[in-house]
Amino acid sequence: MKPFVLAASILSADFTRLGEQIAEAESAGVDWIHVDVMDGHFVPNLTMGPFIVEACRRATKLPLNVHLMVEQPEKLLAAFANAGANHLIVHIETCPHIDRTLKMIQSLGCLAGVTLNPSTPAASLETALPLADLVLVMTVHPGYSGQEFEAGILPKIAEVRRQLDALGSSARLEVDGGISTQTIREVRDAGADTFVTATAIFKNPAGIAGGVISLRQALKTGTPQP
Ligand code: ZN
Repeated sequence: MKPFVLAASILSADFTRLGEQIAEAESAGVDWIHVDVMDGHFVPNLTMGPFIVEACRRATKLPLNVHLMVEQPEKLLAAFANAGANHLIVHIETCPHIDRTLKMIQSLGCLAGVTLNPSTPAASLETALPLADLVLVMTVHPGYSGQEFEAGILPKIAEVRRQLDALGSSARLEVDGGISTQTIREVRDAGADTFVTATAIFKNPAGIAGGVISLRQALKTGTPQP
């Protein structure tokens, strides 16, 4: 199994001190910075655009893992790639021609990711999986940070893991939403290898470094499935 990746979502960061918070997460040992882009249409909330990705790019050398919760993402791919995104993740619900969209992302020099909402079945990823560099399973309904993890999603993570293994894919299997020191073990055991956390890092009472340490410790406990 590949080494686990911790991705810190800046959705819970203090935006008055974004650069410092990212630097603190980086020195605490997170692997990626996750940017949640919401357009107010595909999801009710409205968050950040390419300007924020550009600001993150100046603050860190870590890979920027950009999650596009937007309608018609293909119109924005070049802007996010130019702003310094390393990974661009699109929702299957917004991409009628997912193969074309993933290839477009790769042609921009980024890793191409696909994701799906909790209510969308894993089978909808069939065309996308052979092409995807990353697969993100949403463990809450997207839109806000601080939501409760939906335990009913674990069989879907396991199903996507099986599909990737059957294809011989080396794509990372990422999870996003409600990941804490408790839930991180459950999603790991279901087959996830990459974990997005917002609140558990940026709003941790023990501070950013304390949050990262407890998530890493939680990942070490129990026996991961091979
Ligand atoms: Zn996200």
